[in-house]
Amino acid sequence: MREACPDPELIARAGQIIREGGLVAFPTETVYGLGGDAMQPDSSRKIYEAKGRPSDNPLIVHICEIEALEGVADRIPEKAYRLAERFWPGPLTMIFYKKPCVPYETTGGLDTVAVRFPSNKIAQALIRAGGGYIAAPSANRSGRPSPTLASHCKEDLDGLVDMIIDGGQVGIGLESTIIDLTEKEPVILRPGYITQQMLSEVLGEVRTDRALIDPDSGTKPKAPGMKYRHYAPKAEMTIVKGESGAVLSYINARLDALRAVNKRTGVICTDETAPLYRADFVHSLGREGDEESAARELFRMLRRCDDENVQYIYSEAFPQEGLGQAIMNRMAKAAGQRIIEV
Ligand code: AMP
Ligand code: MG
Repeated sequence: MREACPDPELIARAGQIIREGGLVAFPTETVYGLGGDAMQPDSSRKIYEAKGRPSDNPLIVHICEIEALEGVADRIPEKAYRLAERFWPGPLTMIFYKKPCVPYETTGGLDTVAVRFPSNKIAQALIRAGGGYIAAPSANRSGRPSPTLASHCKEDLDGLVDMIIDGGQVGIGLESTIIDLTEKEPVILRPGYITQQMLSEVLGEVRTDRALIDPDSGTKPKAPGMKYRHYAPKAEMTIVKGESGAVLSYINARLDALRAVNKRTGVICTDETAPLYRADFVHSLGREGDEESAARELFRMLRRCDDENVQYIYSEAFPQEGLGQAIMNRMAKAAGQRIIEV
């Protein structure tokens, strides 16, 4: 995917908006972000308001050079520099103890701060122009699928932000991997494009927050955002797991039954199986096994189901290894953990 280039004049205007306490939606390599100055409490308050996001759900602080980390994070472990060297700029967010200059409005009241150095050139230019520290959650209304196109930001936030920068479709499509470095052992709080295996290559064994692996375990997720219903399409969504032929027959039987009672149905699947489904709307995430394509297309297809007023979505399950872990994590949340094995 070719990344759009920053337009210097536009970036200068956007940077001024940020410095003056306004909000700008902008592309990153993961999803579009809703940016405000991370150091101004009022900017963070505005972000929560525009998103309709609970204020105990902290924001990620975006930087545009590794040296800026020391401006917001305290007691930075040596592991962080090893991770930064390998994965920054890129889709990895690290959690540290915060410096006193970071307002609690930005960290959702926590003494820790999440920091990321994105690789997208428009994002980097905006962060620089905006003063070096931009707090940005995903640029969607809370609960909606994250935006992977500028038009998604407009749908959700038109009139609530001062500017939307269009950088085309994002390259990755899923939010960053989050790793907590405040405990003795690093813990993955949110799976993403940087997989557990990639992190282990740098750190040795890395644990994933138990609440993510087993949502029914009753343990509270450490990333406050992970406890909220998320990425949710308006339809009731069900993921169907199993051998491919069995999944196909199960879903088609459900689709036939729903259509018989005039319900609008949608299916999320792959290029190979798409022609075989009898739904009103069939959305492929790409060729079977192409996880990068599935990551990039997932949120766009969930939004498309909303546009089509689909009432029931059935989705094929994806293998859980590698990037598949992050894809299935977001899908399961969109489906409210409704997963059927056939
Ligand atoms: P978003 O920017 O919309 O992708 O959401 C940011 C995610 O980062 C949410 O799930 C937050 O809960 C998580 N997060 C941000 N700061 C922290 C922190 N200090 N500790 C734990 N999780 C955090
Ligand atoms: Mg989000």
